Amino acid sequence: KLSKRDEKEAIRRANALKDDDIRALRKVSRQEYLKKREQKKMEEIKDDIEDEEYLFEGFKLTEAKQRELRYKKQVYELVKKRSQVDDNVNEYHMPDAYDEEGGVNQEKRFAVALERYIDSKDGDKMNLFAEQEAWEDHQINKATLKFGSKNKRQSDDYNFVFEDQIEFIQEQVMGGVNVDEEEEEEHERIIAKSAREKLLADRKTLPVYPYRESLLKAVEDHQVLIIVGETGSGKTTQIPQYLHEAGYTKRGMIGCTQPRRVAAMSVAARVSQEMNVKLGHEVGYAIRFEDCTCEKTVIKYLTDGMLLREFLGEPDLKSYSVVMVDEAHERTLSTDLLFGLLKQIARFRPDIKLLISSATLDAEKFSDYFDCAPIFRIPGRRFPVEINYTKVPEADYLDAAIATALQIHVNEPPGDGDILVFLTGQEEIETAQEILKQRTHCLGSKIPELVICPIYANLPTELQAKVFEPTPQGARKVVLATNIAETSLTIDGIKYVIDPGFVKMNFYDPRTGMESLKIIPISKASANQRAGRSGRTGPGKCFRLYTAYTYYNELDDNSVPEIQRTNLANVVLSLTSLGIDDLLKFDFMDPPPSEAVLKALELLFALGALNKYGELTKVGRKMAEFPLDPMLSKMIVASDKYKCSDEIITIAAMLSIENSVFYRPKNKQVHADNARLNFYTGNVGDHVALLNVYNLWKETNFSAQWCYDNYIQLRSMKRGRDIRDQLKGIMERVEIELVSNSGDLDAIYKCITSGYFSHSAKLQTNGCYTSVKHRQTVYIHPSSGLCEALPRWVVYHELVLTTKEYVRQVSEIKPEWLVEIAPHYYELKD
Ligand code: ADP
Ligand code: MG
Repeated sequence: KLSKRDEKEAIRRANALKDDDIRALRKVSRQEYLKKREQKKMEEIKDDIEDEEYLFEGFKLTEAKQRELRYKKQVYELVKKRSQVDDNVNEYHMPDAYDEEGGVNQEKRFAVALERYIDSKDGDKMNLFAEQEAWEDHQINKATLKFGSKNKRQSDDYNFVFEDQIEFIQEQVMGGVNVDEEEEEEHERIIAKSAREKLLADRKTLPVYPYRESLLKAVEDHQVLIIVGETGSGKTTQIPQYLHEAGYTKRGMIGCTQPRRVAAMSVAARVSQEMNVKLGHEVGYAIRFEDCTCEKTVIKYLTDGMLLREFLGEPDLKSYSVVMVDEAHERTLSTDLLFGLLKQIARFRPDIKLLISSATLDAEKFSDYFDCAPIFRIPGRRFPVEINYTKVPEADYLDAAIATALQIHVNEPPGDGDILVFLTGQEEIETAQEILKQRTHCLGSKIPELVICPIYANLPTELQAKVFEPTPQGARKVVLATNIAETSLTIDGIKYVIDPGFVKMNFYDPRTGMESLKIIPISKASANQRAGRSGRTGPGKCFRLYTAYTYYNELDDNSVPEIQRTNLANVVLSLTSLGIDDLLKFDFMDPPPSEAVLKALELLFALGALNKYGELTKVGRKMAEFPLDPMLSKMIVASDKYKCSDEIITIAAMLSIENSVFYRPKNKQVHADNARLNFYTGNVGDHVALLNVYNLWKETNFSAQWCYDNYIQLRSMKRGRDIRDQLKGIMERVEIELVSNSGDLDAIYKCITSGYFSHSAKLQTNGCYTSVKHRQTVYIHPSSGLCEALPRWVVYHELVLTTKEYVRQVSEIKPEWLVEIAPHYYELKD
């Protein structure tokens, strides 16, 4: 317990804060949230685009190293949290004040308590440490402590929650299939002596288990097999193991592709546990910029993009005996390309087995595409799911989702099942977490405990694992997830699903070359998948935050495949380097729009990657080695000529993480902005500023403290360092020498221009710019260091449409460079 003196001191410190500070520290209220969302919209686009690409640390490391990392992260989180209240901690997850051995750091504890005090609505000074004590108690009696009592559930205290109660109409019940109550009970009866035995016992209760032999027989008899089975039936985790047990790994690896990095990592971790081997040995994973496999690896989970890259080095995939394209219904760009390529190699490699697995029932389309491959259906177990629609359309789905979650939480008995809410991205999840925390906080012990678990690609690995932990007795878990929980990850114990009906997707307009992340309505197929998540362990309920009319009349049946809505430059380059020159003839399941293909060819020609016959050039071959956007890889390849490859790979790595380098804590924005200005000394552009950030960090020997002092995100920087190392490796392979030339900034700018000449813009008299290529009016993004300097000519890294057409990551250039560097693209006009 804290002494009276400590308490007094906290109150004194709190009172000493100015009103403004307090206001800044207060959590966002509903109205503020709406306002904030407006403001953030412009920054949000692209910020989350890397969501799926984010790496997590920890997998490859030793226990001690992991512990160290974890500790460092906690310190970092504390630092971030202290200044950035909006970034938040879970109600009962406060590692900040506790060190590795479980000891208490009073100073940190103090800081957390102080913040909480300022946040607390009533400002009850006596409650200063109440919450923390509750947490401590909770830790001590984890299993027994219960918050609130059942009898109180319907008291008036809930008026707060019901202030914006949402009315639902129950519309239909999605029928259950193959529910065998006895079997379920049997499962319950299996009392495993150890966790390991339980793990093995669990394997046998999965719906796929009874079909093990017939599945193996089908694989033996057919080269290509389409496998359909409900999410959670065991496709991803079990089938590769069955094949391994049946001896398929004697002839090569079993590769299983996942559209999402997080899924590849988490499933590999799970399977290595089940097989009782170390992750990275017999079972491993590979995602962009991280390869956690070794010579021993026989089951390899990898992102579809990674397998595509492996094609470049090994066009017949001879190290694989089986390739399983999982989550095929997602139809990502890479998955679609894999279909075409795998179909080809299956013809000349009769020994390879292809499995196409998916949770949806549109298997006929896949079967047709793969020359009438047989369909193997795993009869899933699904309990009936009650579908509820809102009476009227909801104006704000986030608000409605939160209100619904609380409504469920207080109305339904605790312990009967957890809640899964589908949101569109990290920021939305964080906001929801915030508001939920605030509202449950106000209700205090009047309601049962609500454990809030966010899950999105960017979440640190150890917090991801929390989602899979069993819910404490007497409490309820609410999982706030992105689309990742739709089919990729199965979270046990979910009984209620809240589906706002939206998803975030990337769209590319080939006409303007503009990419934008849009929040769009989901498809009917997605809506049904989401609903299905609630019926895995018992009868479920799904709350759709849209009307039945919307579902039946406005939602598309299926989502648009990525190949039809994305920038194809990268794809065209990869396919060309695989020797597939005539893209318009490639066997696509759904062909991309020809305009997009032509745009891509045009760009690659301009970059010098293709010659006028559409053949790959020497430059193009080098470019194809880099897992980057072609303009970025061209910039790297060009650095050989400008003798600045050392700087350029740093810039390229930093551009890959740029959205998360700087942070601006709410109450220290001025400090943060000033710190940031330091990197722009000498009126350099954003690219060189990023270079400065990296180099200065390197000079401090990669210090965490330095990052903290300069408002730089340590985790992003480490990722940047990893990416840089990888790029360095590739550079060696394509024989580009690592040379530094820091004195000559012009060489660096010219080198950037070599990749980005088509992204040039000229200043107009009114302070806006005209993009040279599309004659479009664009603005320098307010986050750029050049947004006030307004140089006459600039090149930019990207153009994004948010509230305006903004260009981001900008550097000044001389117009004559454009003609010098890209004479085929620009001509001098007087
Ligand atoms: P499918 O691919 O058919 O959707 P999976 O093989 O992913 O099914 O999942 C089978 C079971 O394995 C699920 O019920 C889930 O409980 C468990 N599981 C899968 N991944 C994990 C994980 N990372 N942590 C804990 N359990 C997991
Ligand atoms: Mg799966």
